[in-house]
Amino acid sequence: MALLAINIFSCKEGKTEILENQSEELASFPDIYEFGFKLNDFIVKRDTIRKGDSFGEILERNRVGYPDIFQIANKARDTFDIRKLQIGKPYTLLCAKDSLETPKTFIYQPNLEEYVVINFSDSIHAYTSRKPIKYVEKTITGTITSSISQTLDEKGISPMLTNLLADQIYAWTIDFNRLQPGDRFKVIYTDKYIDDTIYAGIKEVKATIFEHKKESFYAFKFVTDSVKGSYDYFDEKAKNQKRPFLKAPVQFSRISSRYNLNRRIAYYGFALRPHKGTDFAAAVGTPIMATASGIVTESKYKGGNGNYVKIRHNSTYETQYLHMQKRKVKVGDHVKQGEIIGWVGMTGNTGGPHVCYRFWKNGKQVDPLKEKLPQSEPISENLKGKYLTFIKPLKEQLDTIPFEKEVSDEKPKDNLISLNH
Ligand SMILES: [Zn+2]
Repeated sequence: MALLAINIFSCKEGKTEILENQSEELASFPDIYEFGFKLNDFIVKRDTIRKGDSFGEILERNRVGYPDIFQIANKARDTFDIRKLQIGKPYTLLCAKDSLETPKTFIYQPNLEEYVVINFSDSIHAYTSRKPIKYVEKTITGTITSSISQTLDEKGISPMLTNLLADQIYAWTIDFNRLQPGDRFKVIYTDKYIDDTIYAGIKEVKATIFEHKKESFYAFKFVTDSVKGSYDYFDEKAKNQKRPFLKAPVQFSRISSRYNLNRRIAYYGFALRPHKGTDFAAAVGTPIMATASGIVTESKYKGGNGNYVKIRHNSTYETQYLHMQKRKVKVGDHVKQGEIIGWVGMTGNTGGPHVCYRFWKNGKQVDPLKEKLPQSEPISENLKGKYLTFIKPLKEQLDTIPFEKEVSDEKPKDNLISLNH
């Protein structure tokens, strides 16, 4: 104990000595580096480009004369066009620590990662550089109480993760509008940081498991073409997560009328009668198939539609099938891709037997023949082995992360242990 006290005392004395010999500023500030400069050596002036600002005016305000400004702008031109300064973007002036505070370097940040340096301390030179980027792998588990966005929001997770899970990874396998309380998930993902501190969102989801109605859905990101940089998410058996639509709801049919917003019909005196569906002509009684898996949201007889069925596939897509002779499914039914949902007929407004196939994207009717629809490439046989080896440690990692509920059950025990210490 006595030894410790002496040490503290002598330390205190030493520190006082330093303060006496050096300026207070130097002793109290550690070296700060940014943009590759030691900021301590300068007076640092930070601002953002304002309306009416130009490179010349900013320098002039900081006491740089016009002949110099012209020369600087001219020499920097190959690296950066000074006329491209955008309102609202940050810039930094490094100025000499003298009474004139002469600017030595102008640094402009067109985005979070990049910065342009125009250095005119001695000779004039300009270059573009990038701030260091750090990726941090993280894991998260959660249990659904009402929605995925709420669960993630309560944990302070970027809404990007909701979008990645709902619109990309599980868009074809899980309907995020119909999650059940108690559905739960684990995600291994990578966060991106600029300059160690600035959060720049989620770089990628590497692996995830989602338990929906007690069924487990694994998804692993795998690069299928390293040259093109293309990737997909596959499950633990190497099956692609995407389930593209069938080209047509009926087999051996022909398209008798395409989606056409400018359709005019002679019968109606050439009045504009937009056609928001694609008509597949087929004999009465031909089976109509769901073009993708989903849940039946409408099944009824209504006016010009006749007998029709509407299916929701995920949060983005719905399809609708009109003029059926007979319907085979009812609201709430889960249908698989290719499953028969009814038979071709002539109910409602129709001149002949056909199914009017309507394709909805985000609540709007679009032309499925023109839409860029998700493609699902099966994993090639020679990649499959590589894939299974690749996901093995990731799957083990996922499986060892306890689900949220299991964690909170253990929490009191953890606290006790730390109290004993
Ligand atoms: Zn039609």
